[in-house]
Amino acid sequence: MSLACTGIGIGSARSIALGDAYVLSRGPVEISPHWIDEDKVEDEIERLRQAIETARHELRAVREQIPAETPEDIAEFIDAHLLMLSDVTITEAPQDLIRNQLCRAEWALQIRRDALVEVFDAMDDTYLRTRREDVEHVINQIQKILVEGRGPEPPVHENMDGRVIIAQDLTPADIILMRHRGVSAFVTEFGGPMSHTAILARSLGIPAVLGARNVTQYLKHGELLVVDGSKGVVLAEPDDRVLAHYCQLLEDNQAHREALRGLVRQPSASADGETVHLLANIELPEDIAHARAAGATGIGLYRTEFLYMNRSATPDEEEQLAAYLEVVRGVDGIPVTIRTLDLGADKQMGGRSQLNCPPVCNPALGLRAIRLCLKEPELFVPQIRAILRAAAEGPVRMMLPMLSNLQEVMSARRLIEEAKRSLRRDGLAFDDEIPIGGMIEVPAAALSADSFAQHLDFLSLGTNDLIQYTLAIDRVDDEVNYLYDPLHPAVLNLIRMTIDAGHRHNIPVSMCGEMAGDPNYTRLLLGLGLRRFSMQPNSILEVKDIVRNSRTLDLRQRVAALLTHQTDRDNESLLAELNQI
Ligand code: PEP
Ligand code: MG
Repeated sequence: MSLACTGIGIGSARSIALGDAYVLSRGPVEISPHWIDEDKVEDEIERLRQAIETARHELRAVREQIPAETPEDIAEFIDAHLLMLSDVTITEAPQDLIRNQLCRAEWALQIRRDALVEVFDAMDDTYLRTRREDVEHVINQIQKILVEGRGPEPPVHENMDGRVIIAQDLTPADIILMRHRGVSAFVTEFGGPMSHTAILARSLGIPAVLGARNVTQYLKHGELLVVDGSKGVVLAEPDDRVLAHYCQLLEDNQAHREALRGLVRQPSASADGETVHLLANIELPEDIAHARAAGATGIGLYRTEFLYMNRSATPDEEEQLAAYLEVVRGVDGIPVTIRTLDLGADKQMGGRSQLNCPPVCNPALGLRAIRLCLKEPELFVPQIRAILRAAAEGPVRMMLPMLSNLQEVMSARRLIEEAKRSLRRDGLAFDDEIPIGGMIEVPAAALSADSFAQHLDFLSLGTNDLIQYTLAIDRVDDEVNYLYDPLHPAVLNLIRMTIDAGHRHNIPVSMCGEMAGDPNYTRLLLGLGLRRFSMQPNSILEVKDIVRNSRTLDLRQRVAALLTHQTDRDNESLLAELNQI
């Protein structure tokens, strides 16, 4: 039988993969109250012990398999879970419930879990509250083994090389862990193309399809799949004709990429001689090599929050400094824009659950990014100090995410000045002149771009969030993803206003949202006056190819006309016309 599922593709040119399905059953197991007979108590305790032992064994095996070059924090994250598996609150307390209340093992664990979650929820400290997710994850792991006979992670003895992971949902942290096991593609039931899970998969060059509802029920473990990330299509058990078609596409993609490699050393300028800066977005240390290989002339966005994921403790100043220096030293003197912490919404510190707040709140509108940092200076200041210190060794710029008003800029600047004073007192080298920039990703900021431009050294358009907030659609919610429209007149006007404000105040404006790396929009953005594009390294040469074949003057006139007459024609056809000239 052949079956097709559609979702939202997140890929680029090399977004096709063929591989055997690995269906992850990650959803929480249904545990209902269940009791045992008195004479079964010892058997039940033994069952629980065995399950905990299996969970421990599986995790230890994953820990041992992690390659040496993997960032330490991933191992630490697993260590924290291993530690929990030895903690009496999880190992002994459920035994008492089995003994005294005759609970079945999984039900005893559930009672324990509920009690612990209540304690964590009552805590004021945001960081400690995030530990709740770890407790839930570890308990869920044991319960799954008790109920289904296997844990939520692919067991280590299973070869994952080339497999396609099918799951309900995956976090950015999951993507990092599974990448190390050689998986070839991801298909999930939930999630949108602008989620950080999708962005990470794209930047790692892993094809993915998100939002393919019920896919975990339709697809069978082990069956051959074709995943076409560019179209958002998953095909199960393809026949010979379909297979031949996709194998040919894979070959063509490969040949296209080889041909683009010839552009690495060519200047990045339009056909009418305008220099266009093509910068790289990076998340992980290994991205440095990709950025260099693609000939990026700078790092336009270093997402530092990935340093905080897959671990239980916040990285201290020295650890952050070491990570930033690895980048600064690794990029051969090109400028590095380090974005301060943008935790919150779909980027949480721990590994598993997406949200760290009561179900009624909307995390995308909540305490994230600069808001969180200003509220918790103990989190922010060590990072500011580390960035200032890294800047002593090479050209570094500091970028503040998700600004919505000027007070945030002023408050951040005050903390930066204080950090400089403290570094001076400590006798540590830093860059006193470090440029401070801000991300324009909230409509209010774009509408006030002139004021931001007067108080910042550069601006960067974060279109992933700008589109989300302008159109009031959650970027990770696949139910409303059809409304995610970079061509919406309101979005284009906000982009244009920001670029124009940069010109008026003579400061650089770049774009580091996914729109900058989508070759469909290159000409549109050139026509809007953008000259600095920051994107995942995989896209740089494709965008460069278009830049070199475009005339910016023509584009400016056409795009101005397009914005004026936008209501008469549909956006897609206007864009297609622009891309054909
Ligand atoms: C953006 O919002 O466009 C952006 C680059 O930031 P992030 O995707 O990390 O939120
Ligand atoms: Mg953003």
